[in-house]
Amino acid sequence: MNWQTLQKSLRDYPITPYLSDYPQSCRDFSWNAIRDHLQGLPDGNGLNIAHEAVDRHADSPRGGYLALRWLGRSGQVRDYTYRQLREFSNRFANVLRNLGVAKGDRVYAMTGRIPELYFTALGALKIGAVFCPLFSAFGPEPIRARLEIGEGKVLVTTARLFQRRKIAELRAALPALQHILIIDEDDTGAAIPGTQDFRALLEAASPEFVIPPTHPEDMALLHFTSGTTGRPKGAVHVHAAAAMHYYTGRAVLDIQAHDTFWCTADPGWVTGTTYGILAPWLCGAANLVDEDEFNAERWYRTLQDQQVSVWYTAPTAIRLLMKYGDELPRQFDLSRLRFLASVGEPLNPEAVVWGQNVLGRPFHDTWWQTETGGIMIANLPALDIKPGSMGRPLPGVEAAIVRRTRFGGIEPITQAGEEGELALRVGWPSLCRTYLNEDRRYRECFADGYYLSGDLARRDEDGYYWFVGRADDVIKSAGHLISPFEVESVLLEHPAVAEAGVIGKPDPVAMTLVKAFVSLKPGHEPSEELRRAILGLARQRLGPAVAPRELEFQANLPKTRSGKIMRRLLKARELGLPEGDLSTLEGNEG
Ligand code: ATP
Ligand code: MG
Repeated sequence: MNWQTLQKSLRDYPITPYLSDYPQSCRDFSWNAIRDHLQGLPDGNGLNIAHEAVDRHADSPRGGYLALRWLGRSGQVRDYTYRQLREFSNRFANVLRNLGVAKGDRVYAMTGRIPELYFTALGALKIGAVFCPLFSAFGPEPIRARLEIGEGKVLVTTARLFQRRKIAELRAALPALQHILIIDEDDTGAAIPGTQDFRALLEAASPEFVIPPTHPEDMALLHFTSGTTGRPKGAVHVHAAAAMHYYTGRAVLDIQAHDTFWCTADPGWVTGTTYGILAPWLCGAANLVDEDEFNAERWYRTLQDQQVSVWYTAPTAIRLLMKYGDELPRQFDLSRLRFLASVGEPLNPEAVVWGQNVLGRPFHDTWWQTETGGIMIANLPALDIKPGSMGRPLPGVEAAIVRRTRFGGIEPITQAGEEGELALRVGWPSLCRTYLNEDRRYRECFADGYYLSGDLARRDEDGYYWFVGRADDVIKSAGHLISPFEVESVLLEHPAVAEAGVIGKPDPVAMTLVKAFVSLKPGHEPSEELRRAILGLARQRLGPAVAPRELEFQANLPKTRSGKIMRRLLKARELGLPEGDLSTLEGNEG
């Protein structure tokens, strides 16, 4: 790729980042030193994420500081200090205890991004139950399937969602589900038979709660993967992951105690829980939550008015912002933004540079998965960015590019630039401990002491990692591998292209032919001329062997609800094959 390193020496960074010397941090690294930043429960009673995130600050001079600022859809603002969060989460822990919820029981939440969601997460963690967030736009079937797999005992939801998702009808099929707590967000006061009123229970519960002994290996979070490649897996995470949430919050996102941090991901996905709930509080910052969905103007206004200093978002959102043009952001004062980061999908170089030119700061790509429980590879504040690269492994994380061998082992690929599977040496604290009820599928992800990610990548001579594609999406054509990401990045350089998805299509002559699907920015219409122009650009930049041969315009590309392009679905539809699990397809009421 022709993008040069975006030089951004530490002199351009307005403060000293937590991690300012990468080589030295790699040399000196120890997980024990990271764990020393956690406090532990009083009297040696173990480690509990909610204590580390909230209670320890509530008891400190930070207790009166802003912990959560909630922006309601229609302009309401609600603020909570660390002490208030402790109180509300204590109350909810007592609600659960009064209902007979015990350690290890699963507490599900399906609400929008409303304050009660945050009390629920913390209260469940405090009592030693397992918090499982469900995305509020799931239809009845994905809800049922996830409650069944996790044997959910409690479901917290809103009156509106309860009706719309027909939860009453699901109940008969869910014998483990004992309690449904309803948040009456419209204050209708109408009771729903067989459910209890969340707010009334909260109000009646005591604000005092002592967290029971919690073992670091106790199950804390159950996260379903995005389902981009197939049926979602229920990844089990434990309280020990707090060390990673804290460390990555500091070292990668550079969240400092005076920061206002905004993670745009919904807590229904792992990013929205790890970085939208836990990490900012573990770092003692103010966490901003916006109830509303994407809206370019609202987002820029929020960045400005709330003086957001650290911002974590996703490529889909960044591409949408780019689609709305450069004039809009120039109307806002974004000078408080210090660090911009992205996750979830490959971030095309164009977007990184756009951040620098238009928002005043470059986007830093970060790579991780539901399974890893925290960021593993990143463009760290102290490193120069190579646009299009995922960055370098965090100090303490040992990454490798490997090839699987015939008998279940792996072979490292040491040659710079050569493609292989991205693997991580086991030993960091937040690796998921199993896939719920699918331990065998989990164990298949390991070989020779490494966790195998299922993503293909390469490492360059400077130690930067470059995403090639998911193992299932990579195109094998005429004896070489074609990275859908590389082709998509070039298509996105065309000024008319808003989004691109690339697949391999069987062809009698070429064996596999590269086919591109693109959606256009406002003001552009599909035409033969435009098709030729885009394909021409791709041929010129990529060469005829790699450039797409076919291009199809689509109004929207199929995406998961977490915003990832579903290439497997583009391919299945193109080839007339079964579409597979669509429970997380955006716009699918399932
Ligand atoms: P499933 O495993 O169910 O198919 P999923 O892999 O999309 O779903 P997540 O755990 O949410 O579920 O996503 C992790 C994946 O997202 C990674 O394995 C990778 O393919 C992709 N990803 C995340 N961050 C990046 C990044 N910075 N660059 C490229 N790809 C990324
Ligand atoms: Mg995955």
